[in-house]
Amino acid sequence: MAIRTVRILGDEILTKKCREIKEVTPRIRELATDMIDTMYEANGVGLAGPQVGVLKRIVVIDVGEGPMVLINPVIISSDGEQIGEEGCLSYPGKSGTVKRPNHVIAKAYDLDMKEYTIEGEGLLARCICHELDHLDGHMYVELAGDTIHDVNYETEE
Ligand code: ZN
Repeated sequence: MAIRTVRILGDEILTKKCREIKEVTPRIRELATDMIDTMYEANGVGLAGPQVGVLKRIVVIDVGEGPMVLINPVIISSDGEQIGEEGCLSYPGKSGTVKRPNHVIAKAYDLDMKEYTIEGEGLLARCICHELDHLDGHMYVELAGDTIHDVNYETEE
């Protein structure tokens, strides 16, 4: 278990496309555990490989239903629309308004390389879209435009 350093907007690694994971090695398992620890430490709901400097297609998510590991995730369908506030551990203290689908179905592999389907609505759908964008070198700031603003965390601490 270890907390990894979260890369911050401006770091070139956050703009790169990630490679697929072919095999879950002990290193990948350790990476997944560290990513979950790092996400919790930072009070985040999701974290993607490049955010901890690893250009592999792996994402961890916990929107309050327990941690999920998504390896090589792909969105297979999405519908509806939600407009809401979004933030990112790679851009601390900021938030912006982003339009996302309200319902998303994705497929991914777990740590045993078993394929599974994940279906999300609302926050989970938003989180899946946000994290998968990271795997292709994209961040929500590209979608939020001039709605980006400072966030006051006082009430949450
Ligand atoms: Zn992010």
